[in-house]
Amino acid sequence: MSTSFDVVVVGGGIHGVGVAQAAAVRGYRVRLLEQSALASGTSSRSSKLVHGGLRYLESGRLGLVRESLKERETLLRIAPELVERRAFYIPIYAQSRRSPPWVTAGLVLYRWLAGREGGQFERVRRSAWGELDGLATRDLKAVFRYNDAQTDDVALTRAVARSAEDFDAEIVLGARFIGAERAGAGYEVRFVRAGRVETCVARTLVNAAGPWAGDVLGRVLPGPPRRAFDLVEGTHIVTKGTLTQGIYYGEAPADGRAVFMMPWHGQILTGTTERLYVGDPALVAPTPTEIAYLQEALARHFPGLTTTVAEAFAGLRVLPHAAQGLNARSRETVLLADAPQARLISVLGGKLTGYRRTAERVMERLAGALPERPARADTARLILPVP
Ligand SMILES: Cc1cc2nc3c(=O)[nH]c(=O)nc-3n(C[C@H](O)[C@H](O)[C@H](O)COP(=O)(O)OP(=O)(O)OC[C@H]3O[C@@H](n4cnc5c(N)ncnc54)[C@H](O)[C@@H]3O)c2cc1C
Repeated sequence: MSTSFDVVVVGGGIHGVGVAQAAAVRGYRVRLLEQSALASGTSSRSSKLVHGGLRYLESGRLGLVRESLKERETLLRIAPELVERRAFYIPIYAQSRRSPPWVTAGLVLYRWLAGREGGQFERVRRSAWGELDGLATRDLKAVFRYNDAQTDDVALTRAVARSAEDFDAEIVLGARFIGAERAGAGYEVRFVRAGRVETCVARTLVNAAGPWAGDVLGRVLPGPPRRAFDLVEGTHIVTKGTLTQGIYYGEAPADGRAVFMMPWHGQILTGTTERLYVGDPALVAPTPTEIAYLQEALARHFPGLTTTVAEAFAGLRVLPHAAQGLNARSRETVLLADAPQARLISVLGGKLTGYRRTAERVMERLAGALPERPARADTARLILPVP
């Protein structure tokens, strides 16, 4: 087995497999190291939305929203069995923080940013409110309907990994990265597999370890530049019941934050909360307070549904450290390089929706450190296999 690679990727979440695929289709020799199973980190604990992010308009992230909307359309094309367009409903109550004119303005902007595809929206007629899965109508002032998309984050991650393997990327599960040291024109990489330390040589190294990215950076010699970031915990609950019309985008009664309620494998998924997290990323778990917050939001919108929790899970966002509140913080993906001519790139933050574009950017940044190879495919056109 070869021990010399053009690109070694640490982390088998959506970003790691995305980079493995983007590198493999460029004709590079790629190895991906994942300490556990594919999508065992944040990429199995997301809200499963492939979306532009309507709420990011409120913090002025027009570029991010435009790019995410473009990627949404790309993913609908290349993964038609994994990414599906869904109707989204925004109910506005007398107590809601957002007014009907405010939401209309947001949707007009969202439609404009979406360009030709998928930007239609409408105000749902009052006579049709009764068809909305038992949505509470007391104090209801308006309901808006627009389109975005939903996926299965684990299935999407596996599909991208399979596609990378189709182009000869080597994906090694149960392989924990423990260190890398600059050697010649690359890095010597060490990892543990089945209790044994193994090594390989990498021309370039990509740190896609999500919430563990800081730990990985701390194991690279000489120490690369660091960037302060926070881990923000987001919880979801799964409850019994069905939502047949689509995804509901409500506000939590407690503080007006956005909460999604959506159909999920025959049940209902409600999320998400946001709170700063300090500690071992592997130990993140939903707290009773967060569960109660989501139950209250679900009960406010659908009083006829049970709020008994069948399952709850929490994931961690990586957000650049800043003085602003969590909601106002940038959701842009940060690519942190070791030097102007990068050989090591860390992927910090970002969205499931933008994984493909992020992976392309990583490869553009590494291009100067890699030999020219004839490209074998274009990830924007490559249909993903169904895992
Ligand atoms: C609550 C929540 C909801 C979200 N909802 C959405 C959404 O609806 N839509 C959207 O577009 N985005 C959403 N996101 C963002 C999206 O989920 C993340 O940006 C994305 O999943 C991050 O993927 P990643 O590959 O960077 O990290 P991860 O998925 O965490 O992957 C990192 C991997 O690295 C591995 N690893 C760590 N250390 C090592 C090591 N030393 N050796 C080997 N492997 C290692 C881990 O085991 C893990 O599998 C959400 C995020 C959160 C937290």
